[in-house]
Amino acid sequence: MRLTPTKLADGRDLFYFDDTEPYLSGQATRRLDDPRPLNKRPAMDGPEMRLDPLTGDWIAMASYRMERTFQPAANACPLCPAQPGAAYQDGEIPDSDYDVVVFENRFPSFWRRPGQVAPAAHSLDSNPLWPAGPANGRCEVICFSSNHHTSLGQVSTTRMRTIIDAQAQRAGQLQQLAGIAQVFAFENRGPEIGVTLPHPHGQIYAYPFLPPRTAQLMRQAKAYQARTGRHLLADVTAAEIDSGRRVIGQSDHWVAYVPAAARWPVEVHLAPRQDHLDLTTLSPVERDDLAEVYPHLLRGLDRYFRDAHGAPIALPYVAGWHQAPTDPELRPLGRLHLQLFSVRRAPDKLKYLGGSESGLGAWISDTTPEQIADRASQALTEADRG
Ligand SMILES: [Zn+2]
Repeated sequence: MRLTPTKLADGRDLFYFDDTEPYLSGQATRRLDDPRPLNKRPAMDGPEMRLDPLTGDWIAMASYRMERTFQPAANACPLCPAQPGAAYQDGEIPDSDYDVVVFENRFPSFWRRPGQVAPAAHSLDSNPLWPAGPANGRCEVICFSSNHHTSLGQVSTTRMRTIIDAQAQRAGQLQQLAGIAQVFAFENRGPEIGVTLPHPHGQIYAYPFLPPRTAQLMRQAKAYQARTGRHLLADVTAAEIDSGRRVIGQSDHWVAYVPAAARWPVEVHLAPRQDHLDLTTLSPVERDDLAEVYPHLLRGLDRYFRDAHGAPIALPYVAGWHQAPTDPELRPLGRLHLQLFSVRRAPDKLKYLGGSESGLGAWISDTTPEQIADRASQALTEADRG
């Protein structure tokens, strides 16, 4: 894999991750200039965040608008490569082809203004009940392929390995930025999840605060350690392997299982057998294995539901890599694992969060983790048969 960094016209970073010739060996270089007449990013209008005193959660507010001078045409995909020979188009990638590319989101939920390191905290309405400040994080987009019509489950093993390397490289870099509490690399797939761009892509968020789910996990892991002297996440993976009831796939280095208290209609966790805090320390062998295991899992889950004619229904899902937070005290409590879940609960039905879930966070599942595991195992077998 060869990494080539460049800048877009408005100053955002863009990185090419190449695994094909003539770019891999450096015989040719990707297009580095961005000819678009984009305005430089404004110095002041970044997203803000406020602390909810009732939950202790930070809420990011990205309602600000940077000057959206150039709206892409309805039929133009901003994640597709540039049209060869075209003088100008509104795509985000200057070259007319690419393997894997990562760039800063043009309309980010979190953004650190250049030169600003420490968050300028203040209180809303000068009332200490409402701490507020700029949402000083970073949001990046990762394009998995220049092919608009493929998906992560369909890419080659070589390309998947490049994607893993790119996510690991970005996680390593973003964790080093001042004020970043956690890095989350995730994919939203399908219009049911609210994806507006069908082009195969994911996101990498660097949060300036500890996200609520991680804060919760850290509290649980800390209490478990105080009680037993042991590591919660490592013990959970070991216990799922030991039980085997909800394991749906195993390889030399990875195990996929439905968690014992799954809350979504379809939910799978994928964890390395060896302890890792984040993607950066995965060995080449573990990455190669993951490059086979992960697309295989996705191909299986794309057969989980079938329509009335027996045709498989592509699963809408969110899949995200949980990585250890940067706080040195909490960090050892973290452990790398992927959480994949879907809002689809039947071929023609989606799960909507009702009063219990969205009002109080009290989840009620329409199925059982064992049923999910049985169906997922069957779907993976069907995927193997092709
Ligand atoms: Zn596209």
